[in-house]
Amino acid sequence: MKLSGNNFIGNELSGEGKEVFKAVDPSMNESISPEFHEATGAEIELAIKKADSAFGVYGKKAGREKAFFLEAISEEIVSLGDQLIKRCSMETGLPEGRLVGERGRTVGQLKLFADLLREGSWVDARIDAGDPSRKPGPKPDIRSMLKPLGPVGVFGASNFPFAFSVAGGDTASALAAGCPVVFKAHPAHPGTCEMVGAAIVKAVQKSGMPDGTFSMLHGRSARVGMGIVVHPLIKAIGFTGSFRGGKAIYDAAVRRPEPIPVYAEMGSSNPVFVLPHALQERGREIAKGLTASVTLGIGQFCTNPGLVFYRSSDEAKTFQEAAAAEFGRVTAGPMLTESINAAYKRGIESLARHNGVRLLAKGKPEGTALEGVAYLLNTNARDFMNDRHLEDENFGPSTLTVAADSESDLLEIAEGLSGHLTVTLHATGEDLKEHAGLISILERKAGRLIINGFPTGVEVCHSMVHGGPFPATTDSRTTSVGTRAIERFSRPVCYQDFPDEILPDELKNANPLGIMRLVNGERTASLL
Ligand code: NAP
Repeated sequence: MKLSGNNFIGNELSGEGKEVFKAVDPSMNESISPEFHEATGAEIELAIKKADSAFGVYGKKAGREKAFFLEAISEEIVSLGDQLIKRCSMETGLPEGRLVGERGRTVGQLKLFADLLREGSWVDARIDAGDPSRKPGPKPDIRSMLKPLGPVGVFGASNFPFAFSVAGGDTASALAAGCPVVFKAHPAHPGTCEMVGAAIVKAVQKSGMPDGTFSMLHGRSARVGMGIVVHPLIKAIGFTGSFRGGKAIYDAAVRRPEPIPVYAEMGSSNPVFVLPHALQERGREIAKGLTASVTLGIGQFCTNPGLVFYRSSDEAKTFQEAAAAEFGRVTAGPMLTESINAAYKRGIESLARHNGVRLLAKGKPEGTALEGVAYLLNTNARDFMNDRHLEDENFGPSTLTVAADSESDLLEIAEGLSGHLTVTLHATGEDLKEHAGLISILERKAGRLIINGFPTGVEVCHSMVHGGPFPATTDSRTTSVGTRAIERFSRPVCYQDFPDEILPDELKNANPLGIMRLVNGERTASLL
């Protein structure tokens, strides 16, 4: 496929903007053709107006029609073949094998939502039958279900050019809910965005969805993204990226005359607690697993374990030495963008200057452009608790180990933690019995708790929670991975005393879709 460098305004390609930019190959730090046109104000306006008029039709499509559409998107993405993988690898520096896996996850995610739509019960249909003879007053017939919100603006992250980008989890869940999507293309992989955007547009046409169901706008400046966020016809935002970007978008959205929900999934440092018996039994093994998890993909995962807590002991020293030996063997690789690389280096310099922090080990530099070198750092509980900035994410292949003198220090650290996507415990059965208090503190701190594993690697399934309390996200009540993500783009609508024939199929007496419903307080698929 030949790249045009244009935006998708619904099904039409358009490149009116005079501002242009090119993608950069991070392995060489060199720009690559073609030029991409930043969307103009008029193009943003037209894309959103098209999304709004598409909503009138798309928002009413049956589950099986949307399922066909999502599957068509996955087929079109797969049919782009190696060309997509090669362009993406060039723009991101990510190895082709990793990208093939990520494409599989993205396509699988679309299919999972298609299955959810065919099954149909996600709409949470509830029926409380009326009773005209109730005394002292008749009981009305009340029914409710989830309905789509309207056009959604979606922002993807640079580190997942498929799974958290154009056809990633936010787009899939918004389209599944019945919401048209206006996607802000990521300037770190614009060619990949255009190819996947073209696949979605083909699927829109193939499955008879209205023009405007999907648009994609390029932009390297905040103007384009903010133009989407503040537009009055946009009804929600899905965002994956940095804390700085997510918080700026959230603040802009709540300042609108009509504030809208922003589901921003941001950075996290994913604390790991290594408890005493586990440290004694498996210290070396944990050190090895930790190093692999921290340095996977040059540390560029939102689930990267950036903090490790444990009690000081002889076993802890052995663990630190083993981890230092592992880190010393890790070879550096190119990071995704110049700005991510610069931010990582600044973060390491600032930690190195910190009075309470010492360097335990450094990986092997290769001397290549934008390389991220692995770092293992250490501090003690007091210094950590005195400077809460030590908890901040430093996006890249480093981790800060924190040795605590006492059990009460560990509990105080846990109590003081802010929100994270994940918290991990390495523990034996005995540790778990002895640390019930710690576990109940940690439940309040993260969306996902892991025992004896590592947080990198997020399973896409119905029960996954990829979210967590602020600052990991701007809304801890939901998830951006897994089918629960659909709830973010829908709202409950209630129908009182409606005649059966004009109710949505999901709420009709005969239950023509055969879905599970809550009927008079009982979960059932039977007729009323
Ligand atoms: P980023 O710089 O925040 O970019 C994400 C998107 O937001 C881009 O499209 C960017 O567009 C836009 N953006 C950023 N600041 C903006 C602003 N002030 N106004 C309007 N738009 C703005 O993040 P990234 O570097 O791509 O990704 C790395 C970060 O994402 C890491 O912190 C990582 O932990 C996080 N992440 C989180 C998850 C999760 O699920 N929680 C998953 C993956 C990554 P422009 O470039 O045009 O500004």
